[in-house]
Amino acid sequence: MGMKLGIIGYGGMGYWHGEYAPRAGVDVVAAYDVDPKRLEMAKENGIKAYVILDDFLKHDGMDFVVIATPNDVHKELAIKAMNAGKHVMVEKPATMSVADWDEMVAESEKTSRILTVHQNRRWDKDYNVMRKVVEEGKIGDVLSIESRVFGTGGAFFGWRSFTKYGGGMIFDWGVHLFDQLLDMYSDTKVTNVYSKLMTVLDQKVDDYFKVILTLDNGTLLHVEVGTYAFHKLPRWYVIGNEGTLQIDDFDCEKGGYTKPSYTDTPVAEVVVMTSAGPTRMMAPRPPETKEDFPLPELETDWTELYQNLVGVMAGKEDLIVKPYQVRRVLTLMEAIFQSAEENRSLEVSI
Ligand code: NAD
Repeated sequence: MGMKLGIIGYGGMGYWHGEYAPRAGVDVVAAYDVDPKRLEMAKENGIKAYVILDDFLKHDGMDFVVIATPNDVHKELAIKAMNAGKHVMVEKPATMSVADWDEMVAESEKTSRILTVHQNRRWDKDYNVMRKVVEEGKIGDVLSIESRVFGTGGAFFGWRSFTKYGGGMIFDWGVHLFDQLLDMYSDTKVTNVYSKLMTVLDQKVDDYFKVILTLDNGTLLHVEVGTYAFHKLPRWYVIGNEGTLQIDDFDCEKGGYTKPSYTDTPVAEVVVMTSAGPTRMMAPRPPETKEDFPLPELETDWTELYQNLVGVMAGKEDLIVKPYQVRRVLTLMEAIFQSAEENRSLEVSI
């Protein structure tokens, strides 16, 4: 049994689902949007287009709906779709508050419909390579993980620059990066949250943020997103007590991890002169006292996400992106907004 998918919101991401979901064997059958121009495009792409939501929801045989509208209307559309008997995957962020999510989950339980979120970046190669190196203990116990994405575009387009539609980078890239780390640390609580949300350009939403999370096991997670940062920093930078990992880019073309190689002879003392003074501690390590390792080879396949939904519909699999995980990410994001607003770190148990 396959899946007959309808798309609500045939904008940038709706179009993407229309193009890419068929790669997972999904049949894209219908689209609904408030913008007639986008519906024209859906038609040109061979998808039946609807101007009225109720008509769309009655499309013959459609069993699953993906909601790819601005964030503020995810909730009402998801509830309507489940009420009409459709399984639902909402785009990230699922919605804008924990209370909203609880309403959506209640509807999913009432109607026995699947409710999940398109957390596609759990299949990102860089994330999975980082996890593999860390979880296989290649760099020892991890003290700090820095997860970072930097772009240079600055200005946001359309609804993304308004708070009321769910704009800003916490809801945009932040939700992916928090979801990745919370998925990795599914059994470890976040105990402290500190965040700073900033605007580099004159906008009403965060276009630059730093978030620092402390985990129960003492590990520090540093998440930074910038839309106006002209020099790239690595996508991942991880410090362990037996080595350091760096992954430069999404495709893992550059990066690796380095460990000290222990010899009987102690590392010779090197003194480096900087313009205003000497340093031994920051001197480069002699090459013979360390070893560089390449990033492990690993393939990821995003279509697993849709294949999982087909498996769940058939009662053969459990959901990968689970409602309680989504709730945890939303709870964390609420703490992040609160920390920024009150300009202090918060003791939490998330
Ligand atoms: P977009 O502005 O390109 O598209 C949104 C579309 O929704 C537009 O065509 C608009 O006309 C339509 N729309 C607005 N209100 C509507 C309503 N009430 N009913 C029906 N249609 C409506 O935005 P986008 O970049 O496609 O983002 C859409 C969603 O996808 C957001 O939630 C965003 O966070 C998410 N997104 C996810 C990823 C990812 O990788 N998972 C990437 C980009 C965007």
